[in-house]
Amino acid sequence: MREIPFFNYRKAFADQQDAFTTIFHDVLGRGAYILQRDMVDFERHLGAYVGVTHALGVGNATDGLHFLWRAAGLRPGDEVILPSHTMVATAAAIHFAGGVPVPVDCGPDHLLDPAAAEAAVGPRTRGICPVQLNGRVCDMDAVERIARTHDLILIEDSAQALGAKWKDRQAGSFGRGGAFSFYPAKLLGCLGDGGAVTTNDAAVAREVYLLRDHGRTPEGDVAGWGLNSRLDNLQAAFLDAQLADYGAIIATRRRLAGIYDEMLGDVAEVMLPPGPDADPDHFDVYQNYELEADRRDELRAHLKAHGVGTHIQWGGKAVHQFAALGFAVRLPNTERFFTRALMLPLNTTLSDDDARYVAEAIRGFYGR
Ligand SMILES: *Cc1c(COP(=O)(O)O)cnc(C)c1O
Repeated sequence: MREIPFFNYRKAFADQQDAFTTIFHDVLGRGAYILQRDMVDFERHLGAYVGVTHALGVGNATDGLHFLWRAAGLRPGDEVILPSHTMVATAAAIHFAGGVPVPVDCGPDHLLDPAAAEAAVGPRTRGICPVQLNGRVCDMDAVERIARTHDLILIEDSAQALGAKWKDRQAGSFGRGGAFSFYPAKLLGCLGDGGAVTTNDAAVAREVYLLRDHGRTPEGDVAGWGLNSRLDNLQAAFLDAQLADYGAIIATRRRLAGIYDEMLGDVAEVMLPPGPDADPDHFDVYQNYELEADRRDELRAHLKAHGVGTHIQWGGKAVHQFAALGFAVRLPNTERFFTRALMLPLNTTLSDDDARYVAEAIRGFYGR
């Protein structure tokens, strides 16, 4: 029997131990801790990769989203539409920017349902936040049309989607800006917390630059109230080294997704995410491989008994289902989805044979 944890944090480090150790000695040898060359280099490389004019390191994606909403001019009480099928952080960023998050249902692709979003637009709606979940970009033609029609600020939660594309446009390049997360289990992971904001809007970039570092200008003046949320220079150095080889990371993830797709496509009891070549409009990077499964909890126990770790995202609840947050909506598609959703292990620590083993165990459970 194999042991395939859902995410193997120790192996993720062990696979790159020599490179990381070299970077650690180099950066610490230079005493380069805060807002140093490594972070600036990483920002430049990230901006070029995403194809935007500005990339700014921040402490984490939640702060990045919070800063983006502030920088884009969200006012107290403004409503922002977001999919409820997302991490609570998407909504928290809107809340802390003074806005009111309005969670809506997801469509059959598990992403923001454009029809539900449009139906939720009211007199106080001022923003829309598509979430490029699991490494897949939403139908951005529809989202951009809604934003244009109703004059809404569009900010992208691209935390899970570095490198994902919609019609050859990259996640993080839409609307007023996007935020990426470098949490260890994300596509590009650091050894702790980290994040970045990307934008083509110079005014937004300047405001985020100030917000992340006490409102301070390069000249040492304070241009307004700011917070402290800088991307740690050492983390930036770890990230920059991995970004140089990011194409290989995406290729591995897409290959593993292809194995799941091929081996499970005929199992009627599971509904798979679209395969890597299913649709020319989408280039998916598989931050997660999240499927819908009949008898989900039994399948999960069966996989566990076969050494396979799985995960139910966000404790099995959508944003509007956390009672303490006070949402009073019912969102039937999203609620049904969370009774059936399951994530299989998919990351660069898996071998192709590991993925085949997982798929075989699922086939076995359903008697194939
Ligand atoms: C991880 C994640 C975030 C938050 O990122 P942090 O860097 O942990 O703040 C926000 N939104 C989504 C969709 C995420 O997956």
